Amino acid sequence: MAARNIALVGIGKIALDQHVPAIAASPDWTLAATISRKGAVDGVPAYTDFAAFLAERPDVPVVSLCLPPVPRFAYAETALLQGRHVMLEKPPGATLAEVQELERLAAARGLTLYTTWHSRMAHAVQPARDWLTDKVIRRAHITWREDVRKWHPGQDWVFEPGGMGVFDPGINALSILTHILPQPVHLTGAELEFPANRQTPIAARLAFSGNVTADFDWRQTGPQTWDIEVETDRGVLALRMGGNVLEIDGQPAAGQASIMGEYPALYARMTELVQAGAREVDLAPMVHVADALTLGRRILTDPFDF
Ligand code: NAP
Repeated sequence: MAARNIALVGIGKIALDQHVPAIAASPDWTLAATISRKGAVDGVPAYTDFAAFLAERPDVPVVSLCLPPVPRFAYAETALLQGRHVMLEKPPGATLAEVQELERLAAARGLTLYTTWHSRMAHAVQPARDWLTDKVIRRAHITWREDVRKWHPGQDWVFEPGGMGVFDPGINALSILTHILPQPVHLTGAELEFPANRQTPIAARLAFSGNVTADFDWRQTGPQTWDIEVETDRGVLALRMGGNVLEIDGQPAAGQASIMGEYPALYARMTELVQAGAREVDLAPMVHVADALTLGRRILTDPFDF
């Protein structure tokens, strides 16, 4: 089948690091336009105005939005109203209700809406889900500790309202957790550390039903930690390196590991959804973040500057 045209909106860090190479390597997609105020991709028609792109390019049926969450809704809504299929970076929006509104708009028009969760496509996530499917979960703990200065240099939007703070990476862990556990859990308590000069937390400790806990921290220098450990009635599973390494009872385990990278796998899934005229909208990871921000105890900590 011929490759479909796709446009990327918001040519920043993740668009250049992951989306552009994944589209270039895909037989399904041709990067036919970019829309960004400052960013561009060599050899690809670049627009700075989304309305002008939509008016001039009816040949591009799909848009992939790589903007931060707060400005994303307006672009997604306009794209759907103009009859384009839409793929959303994580987290899919700034609020739950706006994503539900996008789903309603897409469904009414028979368009695809895909709320991507790239960490679910990490190599060992599906084998972990398969292994856990018939186990009883006794306890689980997430440790997601990284250095915000290394991964988000100068990105002040992460500390603005809607930027989610440490939940920007933490929601990746929650996207894995909500995918691999055989039963859903719900948040029962949270402690959130807010820098005195910022609007979003830099660290969070979460407690869930089912003896599940999480420790997110954006102040970790040196080795970075993206681990999920799950104790079951028949052994202990550990997912390390952001879902890329699986251990059972302390020993490496392969399982049916995905051979595709995270972003190539997202674009392959988008192909399936567009071909089927289907939508995939999963808000479960974001529900936990919203609940933590609703229920969390606020602790003020040292001011943070990049
Ligand atoms: P970014 O580089 O700060 O922003 C992406 C682009 O969005 C910017 O280059 C900017 O392009 C555009 N933009 C920013 N604010 C805007 C606004 N108010 N209105 C319109 N356009 C705006 O962010 P990023 O790191 O790529 O992250 C984008 C999304 O990807 C986030 O949801 C993030 O969680 C997700 N993500 C990021 C990473 C990562 O490693 N950084 C990894 C996975 C997922 P112009 O100024 O040219 O318009």
